[in-house]
Amino acid sequence: MTPKLARFLDSGAYATPAVAVDLDRVAANFAALHAALPDAAIYYAVKANPAAPILDRLAGLGSRFDAASIEEIRACLAAGADPGTISFGNTVKKQSAIAEAHEHGVELFAFDSGEELAKLAQAAPGAKVYCRLSVSQSGADWPLSRKFGTSADHARDLLIEARDLGLIPHGVSFHVGSQQTGVGAYRTAIAQAAMVFTDLRARGIDLRLLNLGGGFPIRYREDVPPIETFGEAIMASVRAAFGNDLPDLLIEPGRAVVGDAGVAVSEVVLACARAEDGGRRWVYLDIGRFGGLAETEGEAIRYRISAPGIAGAATPAVIAGPSCDGVDVMYRDTGYRLPSALKAGDRVLIHDTGAYVTTYASQGFNGFPPPQEYYL
Ligand SMILES: *Cc1c(COP(=O)(O)O)cnc(C)c1O
Repeated sequence: MTPKLARFLDSGAYATPAVAVDLDRVAANFAALHAALPDAAIYYAVKANPAAPILDRLAGLGSRFDAASIEEIRACLAAGADPGTISFGNTVKKQSAIAEAHEHGVELFAFDSGEELAKLAQAAPGAKVYCRLSVSQSGADWPLSRKFGTSADHARDLLIEARDLGLIPHGVSFHVGSQQTGVGAYRTAIAQAAMVFTDLRARGIDLRLLNLGGGFPIRYREDVPPIETFGEAIMASVRAAFGNDLPDLLIEPGRAVVGDAGVAVSEVVLACARAEDGGRRWVYLDIGRFGGLAETEGEAIRYRISAPGIAGAATPAVIAGPSCDGVDVMYRDTGYRLPSALKAGDRVLIHDTGAYVTTYASQGFNGFPPPQEYYL
């Protein structure tokens, strides 16, 4: 908890549920990523938290941006980002969105299919394009599934096709899955990407860009390796695979920029024992799966939860949201404990909720409002 967030919480000047984000911590995280990977350009993954104060602060620090939609691109431009520093990183884009981005001056686009390439050739002629590889996401707490990416062989063929369509075959990308806790996934993916570079050089195409994606983890309940460990492992792998002819490196961190800069405050709505559940204690909060805590699905992301000022021993609790939907249960198997004295009206803090919370909230499911947002 940063001093700024602690002061805000003490002030009580907010209604719950609320999410407060310390922008100084965002800036510090950006600096730490830059220090760990000084040779890589940082493209903040806007989807992690697209709030204007965050984009403004990062643009001021010289961050670049990875955007997934035309709406995110407009938000980056409104924050003062130069269109030449925005990557349209979604491999699934409406042609109208590609055309508008291209008109704005966005030059860099992702793809992973021939069909998307055809759209790019039409709507963004002459643009720089990079092909997303499908790589192992083992070790990631929040994998991005098989929804994106293609094989190295297919990527090679598509990048040749890109040239023939009048686009600039610029490089390759991958994403090792979010909250990736091991460096091995990056190592394997970098070696795969280097093969595409080698294959294409033999065909007279010089790729420039190696986009390493996001995935860098933050500490929730369990320790994770520090960002320096990732930086060192990535640079060692890049040097091993590329020798002296290093490509332009790019990272797209989201969670690692904003995750630990935020805290959520929630009010306990009910705490009771459920006879039907073997007498287990259930604690219902005014924030839940539909209030932004979507990454608790499968108990994948396990937030630290505390109840400051509530004395007494902690005992096991199932933790659920306020809605009438049966899936609105955050944790029942992970083994959470909360003070046994916790009762309706008390407040709990859900830590490190700066990423993938505010925009995951539904607009009033069951009438419950999304969390109020505060940027400090
Ligand atoms: C979501 C996403 C990111 C950010 O991932 P983090 O795990 O939050 O760092 C980066 N790049 C792409 C293409 C993404 O979809």
